[in-house]
Amino acid sequence: MNPLYASMPTTIFEVMSGLARETGAINLGQGFPDSNGPPDVVRAAADALTTMSNQYPPMAGLPELRKAVADHYGRHQGLDLDWQSEVTVTSGATEALAAAILALVSPGDEVVLIQPMYDAYLPLVLRAGGVPRFVRLQPPEWRLTEAALEEAFSEKTRLVVINNPVNPTASVWPEEDLALLAEWVVRHDAIVVSDEVWEHVIFDGRAHQPIMAQPGMRERTVKIGSGGKIFSVTGWKVGWMVAAPALTRVLAKAHQFLTFTTPPSLQAAVAYGLGKDEDYFVEMRAELARSRDRLTAGLSAAGWAVLPSQGTYFLSIDLPGSGIHMDDETFCQMLVREGGVAAIPVSAFYAENPVASVARLCFAKRDETIDAGIARMTEAR
Ligand code: PMP
Ligand code: GLN
Repeated sequence: MNPLYASMPTTIFEVMSGLARETGAINLGQGFPDSNGPPDVVRAAADALTTMSNQYPPMAGLPELRKAVADHYGRHQGLDLDWQSEVTVTSGATEALAAAILALVSPGDEVVLIQPMYDAYLPLVLRAGGVPRFVRLQPPEWRLTEAALEEAFSEKTRLVVINNPVNPTASVWPEEDLALLAEWVVRHDAIVVSDEVWEHVIFDGRAHQPIMAQPGMRERTVKIGSGGKIFSVTGWKVGWMVAAPALTRVLAKAHQFLTFTTPPSLQAAVAYGLGKDEDYFVEMRAELARSRDRLTAGLSAAGWAVLPSQGTYFLSIDLPGSGIHMDDETFCQMLVREGGVAAIPVSAFYAENPVASVARLCFAKRDETIDAGIARMTEAR
């Protein structure tokens, strides 16, 4: 048995969803919408299942999806990508993260991780034999500092893993921080794995800035996306990696022995969805912003201190600011068992010296679910 896995706890998302099922709590923990995805995208998958081949599609993905990814990023983010040599379809962003980290990290390489970090990153780095070097961000700003980079980078730095917009903080990297990190990465001849699964879920007129567009980063970025996130179909597990040809060739070698490929019908439906016009994405953001505002207003009225949400479909409550003087883990356990609401303790996204004063809630829910959550959170005060 590999001791890493033998001693590893179950991911907090599964733990909290399990507790929600067990206790009948409203699940605002694990991030998934309580709707079933856009009907036309789901219909495209159903049609593809009966009209397309159900046999292995090409290893790098259906050409129509790879073209759609390249076109989509050209239209939405101004990137100029060659679909044949720079786009690889994966089984969710989770597989893309695994393929990228396994392909790019050798034993002893140092990998800079920015805490709070999505929980899949560290186990993958450790399994690859990488040595994590942490940058620690703090609420309410969650900003990068030059001093933190100075401490984390060394001559052994090979890779940096970032997430933008950030799960769980719901912050969006300011251009200034992207530029600062890019400078350090170029100076150290390192590579960035940039997990951008939340790229379309960004509010208040902000525009997503891919780090790949920063000076010197075009050849040193693996950009990761997810159809599950863009179309609110988290169970589909259709993701992709975008990187310059020299990187893509190596990523493909890891991908070929992780999953090799991804269901063709779901790939075809995501390809269809990526071609939707701007209105779809504008409306999706507007709808999520309304849900964010509804949950924020309800919680604030009940006296909860809500931290700002610039992107993702999460917001957080600040516990000390809400008059709660216990750690986030204890609070979330109590909230799910006694208050009837599942939330995620943000300390689960730290490997050391955690910020343990913040709990994350998911607002990608119907109004009834949000209102029921608010009612229970009001009673829990
Ligand atoms: N990265 C981040 C930051 C996420 O929030 C998630 C899922 N919520 C993933 C990766 C995994 O995405 P997928 O379901 O496409 O594997
Ligand atoms: N990314 C989702 C979240 O942050 C959960 C994904 C998972 O359960 N692995 O809630």
